[in-house]
Amino acid sequence: MSNAPDFTIHCLGCGSAKPSLRHNPSSTVLDCRGNLFMIDCGEGAQRTFQQQRLKFSRLGHVFLTHLHGDHVFGLPGLIGTLALSGGGGSITIHTFEEGKRILTDIFDYFCRDTPFDIRFNVLSPAEETVIFENNAMTVRTIPLSHRVPTVGYVFEEKPGLAHINREMCDFHGVPISQMRAIKGGADFVKPDGTVIPHAMLTRPADPPRSYAHIGDTKYMPTLADKIRGVSLLYHETTYLESDKALAGPRGHSTALQAATVARDAGVGALLTGHYSSRYHDDALFAAEAKEVFPTVITGREGLRIPL
Ligand SMILES: [Zn+2]
Ligand SMILES: [Zn+2]
Repeated sequence: MSNAPDFTIHCLGCGSAKPSLRHNPSSTVLDCRGNLFMIDCGEGAQRTFQQQRLKFSRLGHVFLTHLHGDHVFGLPGLIGTLALSGGGGSITIHTFEEGKRILTDIFDYFCRDTPFDIRFNVLSPAEETVIFENNAMTVRTIPLSHRVPTVGYVFEEKPGLAHINREMCDFHGVPISQMRAIKGGADFVKPDGTVIPHAMLTRPADPPRSYAHIGDTKYMPTLADKIRGVSLLYHETTYLESDKALAGPRGHSTALQAATVARDAGVGALLTGHYSSRYHDDALFAAEAKEVFPTVITGREGLRIPL
């Protein structure tokens, strides 16, 4: 069991545009060290959010992939709920200029006179760029190919500090006051001048974790280069290969195409989702994906994936 701090994906909605009784529309939450980052907010996302015992007070950011209703319609309700909580605070919505304009009108009407601060970070849908950074991770965008401007997001943890090797530190008599410096990369100099190198007193830091969220898009072979080696790739799997003729023209992918991207990018695992309501067995998506890539997780509401 790893002692690494939280870097956990919560699936809130795995359906696509047409409502179904089996799935909610798109929404995902990344818990990075206790701070929650939502990606898309389809209708009903705030209910699944609560069912997964996530805390509204820890939600500071919503990243919208594009402005289709199945990814956005839950946001006015969520913002209304946050505003009702009465505790003040703020949330930043990452979206395009058009999204800011539309949502500002809605919030001005339904959420005015609240002590809650709604901020926008305006993105360019055509640019591949770092749009957010804190002390734990960075978030960058990847332009996708859908029927309207759309981006994917890559969340990348920053490298952590080395772990102290307690036995070696005790053996060499390292005082507590120097532990922080040694964790940060310093060597230890004994009173007699002997230098004990940092590498002898520590174990390597945990490898940084990463999550790529590739929402609605048609198959893009060039994606693999942009998400190489991520720990977990969510790639939409709206269709099966039997309906491949529909996928491209509608700006979507098949499970096999998503798995091809996963294989070509050498990711740790593939997470499926955005299932068309024409299918009635989610296991079919993973089965098809496994024909080309072995490590596939079938997305479903309530699923929690610690990385
Ligand atoms: Zn969609
Ligand atoms: Zn869409």
